Formats: sequence, C-alpha cells, structure tokens
Amino acid sequence: MLLLDDLKALRLQEQAARTPHLAFTLPNVPALMEQIRATRFPTISDRLEIYFIDGPYVACIWHSALSPLSGGTIFLHNILNRPEVSPAVFQYILTHELIHLIVRGREVEGKFTTHPPEFWEMERDLVPNRDMAFSWLWLNFSPVLKRDKKREGIRVKRRWKWAPELVNVWEWEAFEGKYDHLVPGATL
Ligand SMILES: [Zn+2]
Repeated sequence: MLLLDDLKALRLQEQAARTPHLAFTLPNVPALMEQIRATRFPTISDRLEIYFIDGPYVACIWHSALSPLSGGTIFLHNILNRPEVSPAVFQYILTHELIHLIVRGREVEGKFTTHPPEFWEMERDLVPNRDMAFSWLWLNFSPVLKRDKKREGIRVKRRWKWAPELVNVWEWEAFEGKYDHLVPGATL
C-alpha cells in the first residue's frame, strides 16, 4: 500500500507481463476497479491497469509524478489471488490505492508521508468497513506479513507460498459476524 518509484514500477510491470497469472479471485478485479473508479473517483480520467505479481508488497500503485489524475498502475500481491478474498477486501484495497491518485503525499510534523491525515479521512468516508477488511487481511495473513514503516507499506515474506498457516483462511461471512472492530495493532 504505497507509491512506487518509476524504475521499480517498470521492473514489476515487465515481470508481470512475462509471467501472467490466472485469476482465482471471486470478483472480476479489473471490473471492480472500474466500478470503483466510476462511482468514487470520476475525476481519474485516464488508463488504469492492474496486475497480480509476486511481491514485494501486499498492494502498491505507480503513477506519473506530475499528473496522478491521468491514471496509474496497481500491483496486487498474488497472496490476494485466491477465492477466499472477499469483494469487500478488494474494494478496500483498490479504494486505498486509488486515493493515492487524489491525495498527494506531504510533510506532516516535519516528516514526509504518503498517508497524511486527509488520506485516512477520505478512506474512512469511502470505505466504512475498512477496519474489518484490514483486520481480515491481518488475521489471515499476518504470519507472512511485515510492516515496512519506512516505505509505508506491508511486505509479504517470500515463504508465503509454502506457509502452512495460509492453507485455511477465514471466510468473510464468518469473520463479519465476529470481528466488527479493528484487531489490536492492525493499523497501517
Ligand atoms: Zn497507501
């Protein structure tokens, strides 16, 4: 969940193009992204692309530094490419990434951040169940996740593919009834 520099984005794009991944997701993720753009971000005018890749982050977005509203490329980690990841979780992640095209990073209390307070405010407005979506991600995948405070993102450890902890994950519906609040420590 962070912004990428140009070189890194190009490398990831190249990698994704060379090793395309079948979609195992429940929702059609590119269609969901277009639906979110149409309903929540009508000012984003240009091309939006989306790829599943093998890391390093759960999700990230690249856009032109000069004109973010002209579009961008979202990279989702393959850890999300499974049918148990509910449309609600994708809605949260995609909305988060698209807010990066609207809210620019800036200095807050002497430190540059890509997630200033107005970012979180917009996210709360647009995704009322964001705490639950984040908690679902964290409770299911935290054994292979690692916060990257410097880059303001969440990394996926390389062993994710073989991690026995990931064989069974919570169904969203079962989770929804039990966790209606943020799990402790589960903030970006
Ligand atoms: Zn972010």
